[in-house]
Amino acid sequence: MDQEKENSQQDIFRSLPKVDEVIAAIEAREAGASTLPEVHADAEEPTHIPRSVLLASVRLTLDTLRTAISEKRRTTPVTLEEVRAAAVAFAAIAMQPSMRRVINATGIIVHTNLGRSVLAPVAVKAAAEAAAAYSTLEYDHRRGIRGSRHDHIESLLCELTGAEAALAVNNNAAAVMMCIACFSRGKEAIVSRGQLVEIGGSFRVPDIMAESGAKMVEVGTTNKTHAADYERAINENTGLLLKVHSSNYRVVGFTAEVELEELVAIGAKHNIPVMEDQGSGVLIDLSKYGIPYEPTVGEAVAAGATVVTFSGDKLLGGPQAGIIVGKKEAIARLKKHPLARALRLDKMTIAALEATLMLYRDEAVAVREIPTLRALTMNAEECQFKTGRFAHALEVAIAENNLFAEVSFEVIDDIARAGGGSLPLAEIPTRVVALEFKSLSVDAVERSLRVDSQIPIIARIHDGRLLFDPRTFIEGDVEIVVEELCRILSR
Ligand SMILES: *Cc1c(COP(=O)(O)O)cnc(C)c1O
Repeated sequence: MDQEKENSQQDIFRSLPKVDEVIAAIEAREAGASTLPEVHADAEEPTHIPRSVLLASVRLTLDTLRTAISEKRRTTPVTLEEVRAAAVAFAAIAMQPSMRRVINATGIIVHTNLGRSVLAPVAVKAAAEAAAAYSTLEYDHRRGIRGSRHDHIESLLCELTGAEAALAVNNNAAAVMMCIACFSRGKEAIVSRGQLVEIGGSFRVPDIMAESGAKMVEVGTTNKTHAADYERAINENTGLLLKVHSSNYRVVGFTAEVELEELVAIGAKHNIPVMEDQGSGVLIDLSKYGIPYEPTVGEAVAAGATVVTFSGDKLLGGPQAGIIVGKKEAIARLKKHPLARALRLDKMTIAALEATLMLYRDEAVAVREIPTLRALTMNAEECQFKTGRFAHALEVAIAENNLFAEVSFEVIDDIARAGGGSLPLAEIPTRVVALEFKSLSVDAVERSLRVDSQIPIIARIHDGRLLFDPRTFIEGDVEIVVEELCRILSR
């Protein structure tokens, strides 16, 4: 009996084709595909697989089978066609880009894991143009001389915030680090204990201080810091007074913070620069759209801060960037700092940022054209319309595919979030579609939408139902989500 089993395992091993045989089979099929499109038009299989991918996929397939055979999970002979198909499937996965578009149905507008802000169409166009052709990146075409990459956005930022000068680098963490290094390396930087924040895991004020070469001096307590606390800590070695906007949390109750104006007055008295890390990059007052009031960058500039830093891809709604606006002399020093070169922006980002900022010249245009602002400021009527359109498309598809026995749904009230560590207390009333499945589990549907869809769809499970907030949909998403849902439910 044992002998017989051993033999059969040997036979199964012997049935494994050689690497070259599998490759020849795949190539024969590929060659056929170009002459016999009708016969071999198989959308699931890539039409041409690069040799390196092919080899790795075939080896992976054969290794997987070998392991299965030796562990006796595989007890029948292997066919060439089976190995060919499996290798092509592995190759198809390997040939898919890792960085892919997804559909955000979460209602979290600035979703850091999903890439924060979606760019306005003009910003997309500007970035694509900068990528596809030569540009005026560091060239003054009117005068025929070398230009500066900083020039494209500086005057716009000054116009929009009232600052004397401006500079943009890779992201806000970089902007903060560069400012601290520039003004207080080897010196002391004073910050309130209530502002020693962590933003998104790896950005912690104490760590950034250490990396920037400044000695952090904490003043006050977690809930209360007074002007006198700063005054007492100031000495001849103080290089900077730092205020960090508590963008992703709030200390509520018995609290006190020193207002920026007051900090600026203290700084002026002792001739020490004052920096505010504003974070979210709010350029217009959003409170008139029902969003909780958040001080704008312009207000921090008007309060007299030496420099104000903020992100380009949070509430500003542009590409990833760290923007620094402030006094002329301070920005001039920053531009000459070695980190300015190390942290500089690339041409696509500069183009997208300039295009986004240009939209802010007219607030109504900014709110309409910038997807982040649009999703944030959407009124109840627009929200109801967008969700209603999705619900209607879903209802029609369920009827057409006769899926009444598989799914039911209703439109309910829910809360959308600004996300990205911005406006932590803002509860944005929204309308979502809540789906309930009859035979499939909600986890299985959620997973299939993420993993098996042509475009991964990210939805949220709540109380055994799958919620879709179309607030964060972009054009065309409704049709894709409806189609993928029907595909899963029809299986
Ligand atoms: C988000 C944020 C940062 C980090 O900005 P990135 O653009 O993610 O680098 C720093 N400070 C504050 C206050 C923030 O809100």
